[in-house]
Amino acid sequence: MGLKCNLCGSENIKKHLQKGDLHLYKCKSCGLVFLYPQPNLDYNKDYFDDYGGKSYLEKAKSKALSSVKFLEKIDGYVNLRGVFSEIGSATGFLLKEAKGKGWKTIGVEKSKWARDYAKKHFDIVSYENIDEVNLKADAVIMLNTIEHLNDPQRTIQDLYDIMEKGSPILITTPNINNIRYIFTIAFFTFFP
Ligand SMILES: [Zn+2]
Repeated sequence: MGLKCNLCGSENIKKHLQKGDLHLYKCKSCGLVFLYPQPNLDYNKDYFDDYGGKSYLEKAKSKALSSVKFLEKIDGYVNLRGVFSEIGSATGFLLKEAKGKGWKTIGVEKSKWARDYAKKHFDIVSYENIDEVNLKADAVIMLNTIEHLNDPQRTIQDLYDIMEKGSPILITTPNINNIRYIFTIAFFTFFP
């Protein structure tokens, strides 16, 4: 059927799971599970107002606080707190924490509404695309974002260009083998 794996390029793809209109496929070569066709989500204010049945802003603060442990992890790999970039920075709650720890922060966020929120409330600058970032990052974090990307391979290549040599990157993503995530499938574009 002409489907190709974004990770390894294999065309050995089998149907994995169907939930309503969502069709999940699995690459038999590397195990990547992804949605096809991929939804074209509009990350506007409505998306954040109904973030899995709840408002994102309601959840964001506690999410950011629980993500501070990732900042501490990153600290273990850097000598100085230079430029810190978050990919999928949403409304900037985690970057605000990073800023408070002395990092210079840069967000990358598709949603204009969320970028404007981060600027207005925390004075955090975010760009729509990675290739607009004109500073080299000393650390990058990407929390539960890679599964929303239509072309994660491309994003990783773009990231390479904006990172200082040897700087750390921390990526988290849901595990499809964890039953809990079967029920949140509607919110994810693709599962590595
Ligand atoms: Zn593959």
